[in-house]
Parts: sequence; C-alpha cells; structure tokens
Amino acid sequence: MNNTDNRFICIPITESTSEAFLSAILEASQQADIIELRLDYLSVADRSTVLSKLPALAADPACKDLLLTFRPRQQGGHQDLSLEDRQTFWRLLPPEVIAASRFVDFEFDLVESWDAHSPVPWEKVICSWHNFEETANDLLAQYDRMAATPAAIVKIATMANRITDCLKTFELIEHAKDKKPVIALAMSFAGVATRILSLASGSFLTFGSLRKGAESAAGQVTASDLTNLYRVTQLNRESEIFGIIGFPVAHSRSPIMHNAVFSSYGRNAAYLPFEVQDAGEFIRDFVRPETKKFAWPLRGLSVTIPHKLAVIPYLDYVDSTAKTIGAVNTIVVENGKLSGFNTDIVGAMKPLEELVELSGVRVAVLGAGGSARAICHGLNQRGAETTIFARDLIKAAPLAEEFTTKLERLDNFSGDFDVVINCTPIGMRHHSEGQSPLTAKSLLKTKLVYDLIYTPNETALLLNAKTAGCQTLGGMSMLIGQAVEQMRLWLGLETTFEVMRKALESRES
Ligand code: NAP
Repeated sequence: MNNTDNRFICIPITESTSEAFLSAILEASQQADIIELRLDYLSVADRSTVLSKLPALAADPACKDLLLTFRPRQQGGHQDLSLEDRQTFWRLLPPEVIAASRFVDFEFDLVESWDAHSPVPWEKVICSWHNFEETANDLLAQYDRMAATPAAIVKIATMANRITDCLKTFELIEHAKDKKPVIALAMSFAGVATRILSLASGSFLTFGSLRKGAESAAGQVTASDLTNLYRVTQLNRESEIFGIIGFPVAHSRSPIMHNAVFSSYGRNAAYLPFEVQDAGEFIRDFVRPETKKFAWPLRGLSVTIPHKLAVIPYLDYVDSTAKTIGAVNTIVVENGKLSGFNTDIVGAMKPLEELVELSGVRVAVLGAGGSARAICHGLNQRGAETTIFARDLIKAAPLAEEFTTKLERLDNFSGDFDVVINCTPIGMRHHSEGQSPLTAKSLLKTKLVYDLIYTPNETALLLNAKTAGCQTLGGMSMLIGQAVEQMRLWLGLETTFEVMRKALESRES
C-alpha cells in the first residue's frame, strides 16, 4: 500500500439504535469511501442485529468499504471495555462478518496483546492510538513502535491544544512517507487544519462526520464540507493556503465565501479556519518564509478578534487606513513580505454609499466598539455629520474625541437623523435576537437604517425601521463586501460578490 495513492474520506457511524445505524451506513455510502462502524455506540442487542446484517449489506454494490471499531471509553469510545472484553469480542466475531469488513481498528494495546492465532487477518488491521490530553513531541517514536507490529496501517490521533500542534501531525505524516501507511490527525477545533490537509500530505484517510452533531471526535468537519467546501481530495502540496486567524473562529462564515470563489475560479487553493491563541507564534511557524515550519504556501489571511491589533508588530508593512484605525483584518503574503490592510471600512461603506450620498448627511452611530470605529472613520472621510450613541459615555469618549463627533447616551436617542447605523450586538442571534436598540416611533424622521448584524438577516431593528417607513440595509452586504476586497488584495479577483452571496445563501437554506 502506498501512502500517497489513497485519498479516502471515512465517515464514522455514531447512531445508537440498529435501525438508525444501518440506514446511516447507506446514507454515508453516498458521500464516503470508507464507513467506520462505531460498534461501541450500540447496546449488545443492537450490535448483534447490525453484525448479523453486515454480510448482506457489504455485498450491496451501493455500500462502501466497512471499517469495524469497538472502542473502549478510556480511548475515546462509548463503553467501558477491558482488554479482555475486546479480545473476546474480536475472537468471537463470525468469519462472515470479518470477511464483510475491509478494515478493523485494533487499539495499540490490543495489537500488542494479540496472539498469533487471530481470526482477523493482519492486512485488515488499523493499529490505533489516541491521546486526549495533548499532542506530545514523541509522535514519531510512537509511530515507529506501532509500525513494527504486523498491522497494515497506523492511526495516531492526538488532542491539539493549540494550532502549532498541527505541525507535529504533519511532521508525523511526512515521517511515515514510504513507510507503513498512516492516518494522522489532531483533534479539537485547533486541529481542523490536519483534517483538511492530511490527505494532501499523505494520510491514508481523513474522517468526516455524516452531519453536524454526529461527530465521533472533537473538531471533526462534516464529510460534505470536506468534499464540497474544502475540496480536500483535490488539494496537493502546491495548493495555495488562505485562512482566518482568530479565537474563536468556528462560527466564521469566511471559509464559505472564500472557498466558493476558489471553486468557481477553479483555483488550486483552500481557505481554512485557524484557531489561533498567539498571533506572533502563528506568524512565525505558519507564515513568515524564513521561520515557518508549515509546508504549504500560505498566501493570505483574514484577521479577526482578538488579533486585529496584535498582528501589527509582526508585519513588514501596514497600510495607512489600517494604521489610522489601528486594526488589520487582512494580511497579504507576497515575495516573502507580510502586508496588513483593513477592508472593513470599504466593506461597510460601499453598500451604504450605493444608497445615499454621505457628504453633509446626519448619521447616528449606535455603539462605540470595533465596528463603530471603522464606521466613524469611513463617515469622517466622506464628510458625514456623525453622532455616537453609547450606553457608557466614559468608555465611548475617546472614540468621539478621535473623530470629533458628538456623543450622546443611547437611551437619549432623539430621532433627528437621516441615517442610523447599528454597531451594537443588540438583536443578534444567540445574543439578544428579537430585541431592538430603537423603537419604530423613534425612527419616524430617519430615511435609512443600516444594521451591521448579519444573523438574523432581518433584525428587530430593521423590522422597526420598515414599520417607520425607512429604507433598510442589513449586515450581510458588509460581510461580503470586506471579503470581496480581501480577494482583490490577495489575488486581484474583482467580481466575486455574487459567488460569495450565493454561497452564503445556499448555506442558510
Ligand atoms: P464590539 O467591539 O464589542 O462593540 C460593541 C459595542 O456595542 C460597544 O460599544 C458596546 O458597549 C455596545 N453594546 C453591547 N451591548 C450593548 C447593549 N446591550 N446596549 C447598548 N450597547 C451595547 O463589537 P463590534 O465588533 O463592534 O460588533 C458590533 C456588532 O456589529 C456585532 O453584532 C457584529 O455582529 C456586527 N458586525 C458586523 C460585521 C459585518 O461584516 N456585517 C462586521 C463587524 C461587526 P460597551 O463598550 O459598553 O460594552
């Protein structure tokens, strides 16, 4: 078996009843090359029903290769199983079930304890080892010990506590090149890069869940996203890598927008979520050409909370707008140099300018945080007359001073404004959905209300604005606008708005 010839996506089945388990196998067969049957998720009775049906199921041409796993709780499984329990389980497995399975997963301790008279042929055995605490530095020695057993394939899954742990997993895959095939991955969201890039590195397979909520381990991406969003089977060592750094980043919609553009332009590139705690460490180990240990060409990054300011000292150049507002949301890596930009202002102002000429217009900005800062800068540049409304005047005073705007308490909103821009999270999903910072009555004199919130699409504030007869603008256009500008900076691509909009819409539906 050669490591690099295989590009398998494996879906673990984690249902807890035999009926759901069997139907999930067929559903997974439509998306995956290998289906892992997590028999430890089933009761004795359900397991026996599933096993009795396996020979017929495996004979169905619609069913993909099966991998049997019976994991003890202390190694990530769902049942308390001693070594003896597992030995007995595998010894008593009917020969027709073994014949129906392409692979079986034996934990390393089971492999070490196994005698020569196994009913399971070694060419089917994946020898696995998990570390749920950390990704230690001794993975290569661990691989060598496991590769010395008669098992056909080695699997090592470890917990990524920080993004740099992914580098140890990639090093392990490199170490196994031209040796026994390896399945290597780093668990948790910090390890997601290994799940997306491991096939291109040479891992025998990568795991993807059947759907959200059906993951068998932390950080598992859905098989559908591996195939359709990240296009993992098409990536290779020349693929250009882009991504978003932040903490947390799991909620980010940027991968949806940027990967849709790569796919539509047929670009050999991928955009990944990088959960980064220390921006300096990430830039040193993943980005800066002189020091990086990450093998791929990393061409560009989006930067989100809490790193927009923190990245600045690590850049070779920062453009004047980003300098003025003290926040970089985009890094371009070109000719070995790192340049920082801020596309939030263009992203926020462009859709607004398409609806209203801002010079001399009276604008109320609600909130005085990061996005209010970008908005105030954009409004100042365009000659608007801005007033900031904040709940905490002391906290908001430096922003008002910097942009020489008026400052009022939010609960004193007078309503005498042409444009109102909401830069608070009031009304946001999972925060205060359904609430509005302003009533419809207070918006009767307003012409246009712009809410930066993009989930939900139509906030309570925008509904109030419609009731008051105002024109409305939602935050989705800003979200897409700043990403469009990033794509222009990274690759010079100009017409990407519609591709991104459609990708976001199809994801919502
Ligand atoms: P931020 O830096 O945390 O600022 C939030 C501001 O809102 C602060 O001034 C905060 O006041 C104020 N605030 C929070 N809760 C409030 C409440 N219950 N009543 C009154 N004021 C309140 O956040 P941000 O990054 O500016 O983001 C603000 C909103 O814009 C978020 O909902 C985000 O989703 C949205 N946004 C959208 C886009 C886009 O692309 N469409 C981009 C960026 C942001 P204190 O300082 O007193 O806490």
